[in-house]
Amino acid sequence: MLYRTHLLGGFAAGYLATGSVACGTASAVFSLLPDIESPKSFIGRRLLPVSVAGKLVFGHRQAFHSLIGAFLFAAAAHLFFGPHFSGAGVSCFAGYVSHLALDSFNPAGVPWLWPYRKRFSFPLVETGSIAERMVVLPGLAGIVSLLFIRGFFISVANLLKGAVIR
Ligand SMILES: [Zn+2]
Repeated sequence: MLYRTHLLGGFAAGYLATGSVACGTASAVFSLLPDIESPKSFIGRRLLPVSVAGKLVFGHRQAFHSLIGAFLFAAAAHLFFGPHFSGAGVSCFAGYVSHLALDSFNPAGVPWLWPYRKRFSFPLVETGSIAERMVVLPGLAGIVSLLFIRGFFISVANLLKGAVIR
């Protein structure tokens, strides 16, 4: 999937998992991590030495596109960012898994249970296809918009509640 699709899916996953816009935003960024082993990806082009090494060592859509990858990166995020941002591990896991879920709609599939090599897919959407650009991206943008609106109304309701109590 396109990185924009992953950003939107990552935000939605992180926000739904935690109810926090900050965690949703972190999840959006973390959702790009599985493609760090692809030199052609959005994140891979920006971290070229890392992505070239990652592809050589792990291959594309192998270990990094699995639940083991999700757990390892979430643990690393918790260790590195946890002292400053308590939602780091959960945000990373939610964003990472959202990436795997979205890539599962690609015919190439995802080896969720790596090192077991079977790839799981619901082959509905090719990366960058009209279906992704015209259906998946606008659909996710709509979901994220609704989540923002929901968050806004919850914030207003909490403010009013506070005002009534005082
Ligand atoms: Zn991917």
